Amino acid sequence: MKYIVLAVLMSSCLSDIMDDDYRRVDTKLNQYIESFKYEASIRGIKIDDSDLKLYFGNAHGASAVTYYDTNSIVMDSTTVHWTRNPEEVLYHEFGHLFLHRGHDDRLLPDGTPASIMSTYATVKYAKDPSKRKYYIDELFNKKAP
Ligand SMILES: [Zn+2]
Repeated sequence: MKYIVLAVLMSSCLSDIMDDDYRRVDTKLNQYIESFKYEASIRGIKIDDSDLKLYFGNAHGASAVTYYDTNSIVMDSTTVHWTRNPEEVLYHEFGHLFLHRGHDDRLLPDGTPASIMSTYATVKYAKDPSKRKYYIDELFNKKAP
């Protein structure tokens, strides 16, 4: 009898792993995809996150990583960016996954990154919330001033 129960459990685990056609978002991360969809909607852009997988895990040295083939974003909760500027990190990854943006290392005249899609600098508006609108406008519209 024990073997039958185990077999049932194993097959249900297996089907979860095999079936990647579902949305799975960690509750602590959900607010970021919801606010991103809101920012998109007020700019006339619809985001389909029906099969997004967004969860904590090993980002292999980065603060977060995007896997296009599985519509997955993994956030590393052990990096300073999770406590300091999680929205910027996740919006950067959403930019890759949903807006098909690559990295953008242009600088503004004051030497700060021109885009949240910058490869190197990660803190752009966490310390200065007045810059948030600029960076989010730029994220959705690369030509934004
Ligand atoms: Zn990136």
